Amino acid sequence: MNIPMLDVARLHEPIEGELRSAFDDVLRSGRFIGGSKVEGFEAALARHVGARHAVGVSSGTDALLAAMMALGVRPGDEVITSTYSFFATAGAIARLGARPVFVDIEPAGFNIAAELIEGACSPRTVGVIPVHLFGQCADMDAVSTVAEKHGLWVLEDAAQAIGATYKGKAAGTFGAAGIFSFFPAKNLGALGDAGAVVTGDGALAEKMRSLRQHGGKKRYAHDDIGGNFRLDALQAAFLSVKLPHLEGWEKKRRANAAFYDSALSPSSLITAPKELEDRRHVFNQYVLRVPRRDDVLATLREKGIATAVYYPVPLHRQPCFEALGYRPQDLPQSARASAQALAIPVEPGLTEQQRGAVASAVLEEVGPS
Ligand SMILES: *Cc1c(COP(=O)(O)O)cnc(C)c1O
Repeated sequence: MNIPMLDVARLHEPIEGELRSAFDDVLRSGRFIGGSKVEGFEAALARHVGARHAVGVSSGTDALLAAMMALGVRPGDEVITSTYSFFATAGAIARLGARPVFVDIEPAGFNIAAELIEGACSPRTVGVIPVHLFGQCADMDAVSTVAEKHGLWVLEDAAQAIGATYKGKAAGTFGAAGIFSFFPAKNLGALGDAGAVVTGDGALAEKMRSLRQHGGKKRYAHDDIGGNFRLDALQAAFLSVKLPHLEGWEKKRRANAAFYDSALSPSSLITAPKELEDRRHVFNQYVLRVPRRDDVLATLREKGIATAVYYPVPLHRQPCFEALGYRPQDLPQSARASAQALAIPVEPGLTEQQRGAVASAVLEEVGPS
């Protein structure tokens, strides 16, 4: 058996012709930076998400950075986020000289425990970054309420959650801005690195367009100190080919998740990821909680089934954040999740036979009760 987490070549097979002609278009245009391919993708993305503006950038990480620069984050500011996320969320905060203030996750899920945000606020807090982890939205009513009460901006890290909704509203459209990553393993993946910020605020969008090219709208006139955060025309062209397929892929992810929900239900030792009421989960990852996780992982690997651990070390325990003064026992729900989490393949190209084999192998190893 050989079941990878994502067979991206297989996913691209039916659209190879379209991707090749997108490449040819850009090659012949000679326009590799900016231009109509980038603008076209930005417009399509904004429409898809239901946001007024979309600003294409070089990665999800740079999207976080550009958005926070545009929001005016300065050294000494504090930004609240979940300790259970990919590193980029906190890394971007720290790179601006601000302090990431970590909050624990919900005991039953993987998203920020919104009721703990208030206790993490200080006079220096400027904003909060909820992460819609694995493709399911955080509790945005609760996050928005506490943010409003304390005058904080909200920046949604929707890197894993394009297409997800909360009470019918799209991930990325709740706060001041939302970011997406088009890293190849995300639900909408480029053929390389790419990302975007969406916002309803025209001035903020303008600022980010400037920041992504060294803070200058006109060449050699710099209003701000920005960076090179531009989205390549080639990646924009590939993403425009792939965007119309996103909903179909999402349906397959959701069908695979529904299959696992039911196939794994006989075991009381397995906690399946739960789609919460009023939310549409897009399953960038299908993450179980199991006892003896490392044994389960090793057995599956022996059988040729790929798995992954998201995330083995919460952010407050990363060596680079030691100076922040967290103790290992702080934020205990994140430690529990780190010990139990097991991601199994849920990608759209998974065959019925493959997902059946994955479910049997997990059940067999974990046991019924
Ligand atoms: C992938 C990811 C990012 C960063 O995106 P890149 O495109 O890889 O830079 C940020 N936050 C989360 C939660 C992610 O999963």
